[in-house]
Amino acid sequence: MKNKIPTISITAICLLALIILSSGIQSEKGGKMQQKYYYCEYCGHRFPSVRLLTSAPCVRHPDGPNKGRHKLYEGTEKSEYTCKYCGRKFPSIMLMTAAPCVNHPKGPNKGNHSPAL
Ligand SMILES: [Zn+2]
Ligand SMILES: [Zn+2]
Repeated sequence: MKNKIPTISITAICLLALIILSSGIQSEKGGKMQQKYYYCEYCGHRFPSVRLLTSAPCVRHPDGPNKGRHKLYEGTEKSEYTCKYCGRKFPSIMLMTAAPCVNHPKGPNKGNHSPAL
């Protein structure tokens, strides 16, 4: 009977340590996952917060360079972006919005490609 007590407490300590350890790893992973970036739909510039993005003027604004502020791209981060007007694919928003689009609503090459969500 006397031998059973230490065995149980050691098991309990091991289990507790395991829970603390695994929860610690989980929160560390969660912290890294929260490192999110926000992209401008017009120029593809990356910002660490929406506030920074929407407070800075955009050089590729549709009304003209620096005539307006960056617009938040509300789609998810992808490995490949598709133009919503012509369907061409680009590896980044920055590359996509730098090139004129033949299917642009304002007319052929009257504006640049725009990423689909
Ligand atoms: Zn921009
Ligand atoms: Zn296009």
